[in-house]
Amino acid sequence: MEKNTAATLVSALKKQKYHLVGSHSAVKRCKWLYESIVNGRPCYKQKFYGIKSHRCIQMTPSLYYCTQQCLFCWRAQSGDLQVTWDEMKIPEMDTPETIVEGCFKAQERILTGYKGNSQANWRKFQEALRPKQVAISLTGEPTLYESLGELIRTFHQKGLTTFLVSNGTLPAKLSKLSHEPTQLYISLCAPNEQVYKRICRPEFPGAWEKLNQTLVLLQGFCCPTVVRTTLVKDLNMTHVEEYAKLIESANPTYIEAKAYMHIGFSNLRLGFERMPIHAEVKEFAQHLAEKTGYTIVDEAPESRVVLLSRLIKPIQVGVS
Ligand code: SF4
Ligand code: SF4
Repeated sequence: MEKNTAATLVSALKKQKYHLVGSHSAVKRCKWLYESIVNGRPCYKQKFYGIKSHRCIQMTPSLYYCTQQCLFCWRAQSGDLQVTWDEMKIPEMDTPETIVEGCFKAQERILTGYKGNSQANWRKFQEALRPKQVAISLTGEPTLYESLGELIRTFHQKGLTTFLVSNGTLPAKLSKLSHEPTQLYISLCAPNEQVYKRICRPEFPGAWEKLNQTLVLLQGFCCPTVVRTTLVKDLNMTHVEEYAKLIESANPTYIEAKAYMHIGFSNLRLGFERMPIHAEVKEFAQHLAEKTGYTIVDEAPESRVVLLSRLIKPIQVGVS
């Protein structure tokens, strides 16, 4: 990446409160960390799966790099800030140890702000200093990072659970992961190739076929798996039968139907009106339930997300 491009990106990301780690990773305070410590409101993943929002690090090992340019993405994409770069390749890879240590330090810096906050829950603040969960999901495609399996292993060795979110376009990398995450998410944001190209804007030919291969691969994972659909009004909330067929090929533990949120750099690409309300997400989820045989097992209206599963209750992976 050219020096000027890097400087422009770094300055824009710092304004958005990204804490850069090494040369291609970052941590950002999740809104739910604050909500949990200050207002006692945890994120929907605490409600569904038992992880603790106040002990969660939100990070990415692939800050500037991805194989798609989704319209709904909050990350800075090549071209957004009048700068361009090759998004498909991380030039120099930091070691997993460097990234993990950097993430802990960044999280500590983030938490410093709560020391003087009289509304912060002191017990939660103390617990937050010892993170127990990491969401490898912030931005970018994490499978572009060569040592992703080792990164997951290093987090696990430190006593953290890991939720990994991938767009599924690199099945060869996923199938060779040396260590599985605690829970694996694959994004499926289109019912067919035509919609996929329009909304996810893949950066290489054949990406749709690769995503389909990944869905089939999912059945080979031992950890709980999730197919997550980010729903954008008037773009990808139709063709439920086609979604159902794709989901059937993955046989995931869960389906998460979630509304697009009008935040970050997505504001440059989509309007506010593209966010479905919770009732619309639920209606979509109900159709999905009819076509897949999955059942709606939980929902979080404040995050506009509905959880479907064949299990009666989601598996709790959180800490005590
Ligand atoms: S699991 Fe996700 S939403 Fe919940 S606190 Fe962590 S980063 Fe935030
Ligand atoms: S796959 Fe994820 S990180 Fe990449 S452009 Fe889409 S939403 Fe953004």
